[in-house]
Amino acid sequence: MTLEVHQVAATRPYPPRVSAFTKPFWSALGEGRFTTTQCGECHRQTFPPKLVCPHCWSDKHAWVDMPIEGDLYSWTRIHAAPAVFQPLAPYAVGIVELGGRIRLACPLVVPDGVPVIVGGKVRMVVMAFDDGPLFAARVLSA
Ligand SMILES: [Zn+2]
Repeated sequence: MTLEVHQVAATRPYPPRVSAFTKPFWSALGEGRFTTTQCGECHRQTFPPKLVCPHCWSDKHAWVDMPIEGDLYSWTRIHAAPAVFQPLAPYAVGIVELGGRIRLACPLVVPDGVPVIVGGKVRMVVMAFDDGPLFAARVLSA
């Protein structure tokens, strides 16, 4: 499933370090796909992508698409931000649970008039900055 893309006319305030291992993740995100690694032995998925499975220590893995819809597990609004994120404050970040099995932290995109509710539905989106992509979760109206 292709992610919705939000254009952002700015550079990323804290760009990720892209390594040879994480390059497939960032390349896929730039193409609108949210991916991670799945263990070649126990078949569990982990996020962020990992070279070695934290469940069975296997170093065999494959890149797979992640579920892009899930539930908001927790969230907060940050007013006192670290220096590099100060121009964005206040902003919302949350922990989302995708497919009922993987939880991850990310910024939240909150449309005007949509309440942020723990347990509410979210959908992953690509934030297409001038210098590359980041991911976020858009809060969906009930
Ligand atoms: Zn494993």
